[in-house]
Amino acid sequence: MMIINKKIPTEEELQKEIQEFQQNLKEKYGDRIGVGVDFRSTQHQSQGEETEPEPQKTFDLKFDLKPKEIKKYLDRYIIKQDAAKKALAIAVCDHYNHVRECHENPEIAETDYSKQNIVMLGPTGVGKTYLIRHIAKLIGVPFVKADATRFSETGYVGANVDDLIRELVSQAEDNLELAQYGIIYLDEADKIATPPNIIGRDVSGRGVQIGLLKLMEETEVDLRAGNDVASQMRAAMQFQKQGKVDKEVINTRHILFIISGAFTGLEKIIKQRMHQSRIGFNAEVAQPKEDVAQYFEHVTPKDFIDFGFEPEFIGRLPVHVICNELEVDDLYYILKHSEGSIIRQYENAFKAYGISVYFSDGGLHRIAEKAIEQKTGARALMTVCERVLRNYKFELPSTNIKEYVVTVDVVENPDTELDQIIQDSTYNKRIVYCELVRRYETSFHEKHGLNINFNEEATNLLSEKAIAEDRTIQVVCDSILESYQHGLNLIKQNTGQTSFTFPKEVVENPDPILEEWIRDSYNTKR
Ligand code: ADP
Repeated sequence: MMIINKKIPTEEELQKEIQEFQQNLKEKYGDRIGVGVDFRSTQHQSQGEETEPEPQKTFDLKFDLKPKEIKKYLDRYIIKQDAAKKALAIAVCDHYNHVRECHENPEIAETDYSKQNIVMLGPTGVGKTYLIRHIAKLIGVPFVKADATRFSETGYVGANVDDLIRELVSQAEDNLELAQYGIIYLDEADKIATPPNIIGRDVSGRGVQIGLLKLMEETEVDLRAGNDVASQMRAAMQFQKQGKVDKEVINTRHILFIISGAFTGLEKIIKQRMHQSRIGFNAEVAQPKEDVAQYFEHVTPKDFIDFGFEPEFIGRLPVHVICNELEVDDLYYILKHSEGSIIRQYENAFKAYGISVYFSDGGLHRIAEKAIEQKTGARALMTVCERVLRNYKFELPSTNIKEYVVTVDVVENPDTELDQIIQDSTYNKRIVYCELVRRYETSFHEKHGLNINFNEEATNLLSEKAIAEDRTIQVVCDSILESYQHGLNLIKQNTGQTSFTFPKEVVENPDPILEEWIRDSYNTKR
């Protein structure tokens, strides 16, 4: 549909027309298809102003990171995947060091250099995308993620691998130079493999591989796509106004390509080859519980070809990065310690209503256990938390509850617990105080290097004391343990003991108990 000879619409009219078009596409194809529209160039024209062409934004590439620095940065956000982080850090440094050299010294670009494009193998939800997103953020280059299946599905009119480059430009906010150093990440790449012997399998994958190969090698992509309605409209308007259309192209030489997927079945190919050749195959690999990642570590280009990739395509992806399955403790660790933990999101969401939510260690563990059952890696953490806390988000802001704890019971029976804490404020307060005692113990350890633990009775007594005296747990504990830091250190010197469990007598009568313990420690010393 071209509109060359029609009246130019106003921005509002155009916006309305495009929204209708987007809605039609959505109804027809669902969320898989979207059309991005950039009104910036139409704005100038609709206002009828004579405008200068936008100044070309330049990109000054000052890449000076070292692999260890990249790994250290990734460690803040991504749990485990150490081998993957290392391999990625090296590949990314090689790539951007080369880009910088070409930038400073253009004749280098002519030399034979094999780009460090990457294949990432690993199950869903273990941090593959997350790693690359953080790398792109750290380096300051645009990042585009797409599912490879999007290009092989029949019926998607706009399915063209070149669209990836145009998306990169849009991510770079039209800074063409910056876009040329961006990262393209193609997920579900295993779905575009076309094994030679499997009949009836979608063969369009081969076409997609060839299209991608062209981009990975080096090509110039016209930014005015034939099938992109928005860019066609812009071109049409520019033609009407100026009698010509500027050609905008982008070179793909320095774009880093990463393809990823679970590659289910590839391990069988590797295993078979290793058995046949009996080289590099040892007892360690043939564990009773077979770990797919163990096989992936031995993958060769030939295995990828047998899996259904074109030799030229896989030849352009020299770096193989393997990500491992995450276990319950990893998911717990992600929630508890990773910098991007979704727990912070929940804390902030409740804070907006003046409510403090405390996630107990037990609660976090139970969330991790529930998430692992879904077999979608860390992705499931969000699903579990949403399910557990949805009604809390709905109900609590309209109550006078100002703090509550996500305990094991909350994760197990969210609705029953919610009713209980709303109806019984003492019940809620007791749980909150117990959690604050646990936190006090942690901070005592951080400050003094000693593990202390109030047993259940002692914890209950502390809570009662705090409620009765209307003091905080911090104040109550500080006053009880006034002499303990010094006293426990004496005991440590005498006996080497660093962990102490406090019975309720410590809360009732702290100093005589401590004195007795110290006396005993001198006896042990002798
Ligand atoms: P995939 O491996 O399928 O690409 P993602 O990287 O998209 O999975 O992970 C989904 C989400 O799960 C991430 O946005 C992140 O919040 C979390 N996540 C996954 N793996 C890890 C990890 N190893 N460490 C910390 N968070 C992770």
